[in-house]
Amino acid sequence: MLDPSESAYPARALVDLSAIGHNLAALRNRAPGCQQMAIVKADAYGHGLLPVAQAALKAGADWLGVAQLAEALTLRAGLDTAGISRAHAPIFTWITTPDQDLTPALEADLDLSVSWAWSLAQVCASARQLGRTARVHVKIDTGMSRAGSTLADLPALASGLRMAHDEGLIEVVGAWSHLSRADDLSEEGMASTAQHIEIFERGLSILADVGLEPQIRHLAATSGLLWHPKTHYDLVRPGIGLYGLSPEPLIASSQELGLRPAMTLQAPLSAVKVVEDDTPASYGGTWRTPGRRWLGLVPVGYADGILRSASNGAPVLVQTPQGTISASVVGRVCMDQIIVDLGPAQGSSDTPSARTPEPPARAGDRVVLFGDPADGLPAADDWATHAGTINYEIVSRLGERIPRVHIPYKSREVHQS
Ligand SMILES: *Cc1c(COP(=O)(O)O)cnc(C)c1O
Repeated sequence: MLDPSESAYPARALVDLSAIGHNLAALRNRAPGCQQMAIVKADAYGHGLLPVAQAALKAGADWLGVAQLAEALTLRAGLDTAGISRAHAPIFTWITTPDQDLTPALEADLDLSVSWAWSLAQVCASARQLGRTARVHVKIDTGMSRAGSTLADLPALASGLRMAHDEGLIEVVGAWSHLSRADDLSEEGMASTAQHIEIFERGLSILADVGLEPQIRHLAATSGLLWHPKTHYDLVRPGIGLYGLSPEPLIASSQELGLRPAMTLQAPLSAVKVVEDDTPASYGGTWRTPGRRWLGLVPVGYADGILRSASNGAPVLVQTPQGTISASVVGRVCMDQIIVDLGPAQGSSDTPSARTPEPPARAGDRVVLFGDPADGLPAADDWATHAGTINYEIVSRLGERIPRVHIPYKSREVHQS
């Protein structure tokens, strides 16, 4: 249920939790036999952390993953409150900083990533303080130069891990890394992924040299899962695919991948009016009416995460009682509003007699900014193209003030009955 302030907000992001289940199943078919970690970082890519996490668990996800420790703690608290057993909802989190106290993380039964001697010392200090064994996944830098131990540093880290393991402070549950070019199927991209695998293997053997053989080896996010079966190992970590979006629409669209975009962003038209020929629209007058036009106003803007770089071009679909109108954003995206072009007004400048033509749409009619293209809606991918970015940014930057409305999860069994 929306609270009153939310129901007063005109825009809505509908999130179909059944699509999350559908997508997890589709992804499972492409990596059969692997454990699945549903990546729900950044408020589940803007889709709503707790509802998405719960849907993913219902759909059979074995793990949940979030980048930020704070978000992992929020997730655990939410799942505890929902009565979800920790044994059935392991959570992995991988960004910590030296100033953080990790005792709450251990008390929340979070699996932690260790890349460096200082992070190992930090985990061990908290484990010692609590008298418990921390569960860690060693991260190996396989070519992204982000987190992870380089092969040069790994022997020292490995012996530290071994000592901590022997002291009972840690259990080395996993070894993992992340691919930097798995969405690039060019010769160079393929060579990069092959090199990641090679470095990962060398890292695993450095760990084996000190007697550490982590049970869960993991490398692949959605693009590795889809396009590089050799990266599957024991567990895959789909993020974007879980939300029904392709990690690289130029390789394959969500429809071609059998994925269903879970989010539909919509808002009602707040006004519709006729504007005469050659009239500038929005700040800076970067667009002028090419004739007498019907313009619509939509009450969402860059403060809602509608990227200003999508000005002049991003598509929308206007749903009227008479049918749908494909329209697009004209002029600049404002803080709280956008203008869309609804087409030529009857009685264009050469027949000015038609002063009160029938409007193609009315205030209150629904405008869909993006949703599932299989339903004839514009795609988050279209917005990404117009804004010069990736679909990840379109959904994950959607403003907090837009209420997320979750359409309850229906399992396949429920559908059939
Ligand atoms: C974000 C992320 C993922 C998921 O990536 P997608 O491309 O969205 O599937 C997996 N692993 C790590 C470490 C990540 O940061």
